[in-house]
Amino acid sequence: MSSSILIPKICTFCKTPFIAKTTVTKFCSHSCSKKSWKINKRNEKIITAQTEEYEKSVGIDYTEIQSKEFLSIKETCLLLGISRMSLHRYIKNKLIISTALNGRVIIQKKSIIKLLK
Ligand SMILES: [Zn+2]
Repeated sequence: MSSSILIPKICTFCKTPFIAKTTVTKFCSHSCSKKSWKINKRNEKIITAQTEEYEKSVGIDYTEIQSKEFLSIKETCLLLGISRMSLHRYIKNKLIISTALNGRVIIQKKSIIKLLK
């Protein structure tokens, strides 16, 4: 069964009015559809690159953590992949030994490694 519906539309790419044969048609021509697809692909690539850049900027520097003898609360959470809440529970239960130094809580890395073994 051939449909005889004709829908007046405006091309998403070149903004030219055209008559579409289906409700899903977005472009006046095949070339517009192709060009638009290419632009979308390029934008996708840009977004992916930006995301990677962002992940790198907030990324965990494991080599830095590994070379340290004492860790901050934040670093310990990152290293163990646990939340602050969990870490405080471990400290409270004396599973992880922490020391307050100048008002900052520091954790000896040895005590964490012991916990993991
Ligand atoms: Zn067009």
